[in-house]
Amino acid sequence: MQSAMFVCFACKKSRRYRAAAPRNPTCQACKSPMVYVFHKFEMPKQEDRKGWQEFAAKVGSYNSELAERSVANVSKNIRQLEAKLKKLLPTNRKQIIEIEALLASNKKWLEYWEQFAAATRTILKPAARKAK
Ligand SMILES: [Zn+2]
Repeated sequence: MQSAMFVCFACKKSRRYRAAAPRNPTCQACKSPMVYVFHKFEMPKQEDRKGWQEFAAKVGSYNSELAERSVANVSKNIRQLEAKLKKLLPTNRKQIIEIEALLASNKKWLEYWEQFAAATRTILKPAARKAK
């Protein structure tokens, strides 16, 4: 089973979670939202302040793009499914149930990506304030 790395930028600690479930973990130590980190990005050493600023900027821009793309895709799916649903006659019960299940799943993913974007903003804000 594939797993993904999440980092708490407050504690500077990472944890791996299975990637299958749509959820955004919170740090068990400080309850901050944990931020997804692409597996090829290397976490700096605890005491490397500059390294952490650069790491936050890199992860932040990567995640922002990923979230934007994903929100757009999922929103498009939702619009298409809703349009399909409108065209169906009430007698197409089986199809209606199938589409409603897909809609529910897409709405969960939309919520996931919105939370993902919000978690990403928590690490970008302090970096933006310090930028010269
Ligand atoms: Zn923490």
